[in-house]
Amino acid sequence: MPAKRRTALLSGTVVDGSGDAPFVGDVIVADGRIEAVIPLSSRPATGYDAEAVDAAGFVVAPGFVDIHCHSDLTRLTYPDAESRITQGITTEVIGNCGMSAAPTGGDAAGLAEVIATIDVTPDQARPWASVAEWLAVLDSSPSAANVAALVGHGSARHAAAPGRGTQLTPAELTALVAEVDAALDAGCVGVSLGLMYAPGESAARDELSAVADVVARRDSLLAAHLRDYDARALDDSIAELTAIAGDARVQVSHLRATHADGRFAETLAGLERLREGQDLAADCYPYTAGHTTLLQLLPSEVRAAGPAAALTLGPETLAQLLREAGWEADQIIVMKAAATPGAVGMSPAAHPDPWGWLAHTLVANDALVDVAVESGSAADVDLALQTGWVTIGSDGTALSAGHRTSAPHPRSWGTFPAAFRRMRALGVTLPSAVRRMSVASAERIGVPSGLRAGLPADIVVFSEEELDSRATFAAPAQPSAGIRDVFVNGIAVRRNGAATGARPGRLRRKEHAL
Ligand SMILES: [Zn+2]
Repeated sequence: MPAKRRTALLSGTVVDGSGDAPFVGDVIVADGRIEAVIPLSSRPATGYDAEAVDAAGFVVAPGFVDIHCHSDLTRLTYPDAESRITQGITTEVIGNCGMSAAPTGGDAAGLAEVIATIDVTPDQARPWASVAEWLAVLDSSPSAANVAALVGHGSARHAAAPGRGTQLTPAELTALVAEVDAALDAGCVGVSLGLMYAPGESAARDELSAVADVVARRDSLLAAHLRDYDARALDDSIAELTAIAGDARVQVSHLRATHADGRFAETLAGLERLREGQDLAADCYPYTAGHTTLLQLLPSEVRAAGPAAALTLGPETLAQLLREAGWEADQIIVMKAAATPGAVGMSPAAHPDPWGWLAHTLVANDALVDVAVESGSAADVDLALQTGWVTIGSDGTALSAGHRTSAPHPRSWGTFPAAFRRMRALGVTLPSAVRRMSVASAERIGVPSGLRAGLPADIVVFSEEELDSRATFAAPAQPSAGIRDVFVNGIAVRRNGAATGARPGRLRRKEHAL
């Protein structure tokens, strides 16, 4: 047998992701897996037969696990996953918010409409129809970061009952359940709901419960973009989700309150009570601005009628509805508007008729406009970051610095370092912060994470003092500060602050008992 290829990360501050206290020690990597984690006091006198990497003065931690992102298509376009690796993410979970890149139901163009909001690289080839085919493409397309996939309810529904409004026929419901079952068979780690997006928004309760029943039966995860994050509707939206979920394990995606009213602590307390009887957790990102489709700012009855119907209202009515939506013009920045590229990065506040300009932008782009909206409060974000069962998820995407077809929210590049910095400032301990950026999320979906013998060697080596985001709305495509080395499946994808060009990322299927 050829000798094993070994790397020894020496004398680092080992934070293994369990939440246990850090210790100074060595992490030995052999053939892609962690072979041993050895406290300095137990280091063998003979040393290790391995390539040595001095980690003294640095934290050696599990690579970060981004439980909520939208790289379904972009990770194929940008296989070096620069926006992910430079912030220490080694595994991304895609297929969120009801939107996954499969199944297409044989209607790829129709699915492209369903998932338009995550489709920022429209030229990306999509050589698949079923979820199994999609996962096979992900598995065989080299990438710097690992990936695990949820199947989106909206995508599965499109495949089972394209164009259907509220009520599915019994045959369509059976077909939808079969799509979800097939996706979980193929290796998806759960199902996502997008209760604020078409078609999930108009799905009947019994349909959503039938999907949740499959999730419960398969012991996978039901992740949900709630129906409404507005502070006045948030508790009801959570109650709706937990009722839908039944016995399914639940993940409240990107937990936050828009139009904050100071009641977020009560919402968290309510979730805390629900957790006593239900397997429920949440993820959050450290920003007060969200990123969504411009259509989402319109009243729910307009959204529910679909983009084509919204456009028939005409620019004047649309301008009126946007004006009445309750936002200030300077809270909004246009992030995607392919037909009017000059609008990208602009706030309507820069125009003499802000709402008219925004409505015209919507019409000119056939409703395919994304916006960032300054919609939450910093105090609420801090509360979520201080909550032990809330893990970190970016809601971002794998991008390169050269990405031009949309303006990325800085969360795509900076979520984990920004969350780390803020959590530490709020008094969250180093082991707890690391756990909530890695193992705690991995446990929700049953993929491996942690510095333990036998696990895949997904490792980040960072400076505890320097780790921070440099991404801003003005200049989002910035590598984070303080990330020195990143290993994925034992291979360095970043060394001494520079990309190595290696693409050792793999598809992760659910393999660990939950
Ligand atoms: Zn979402």
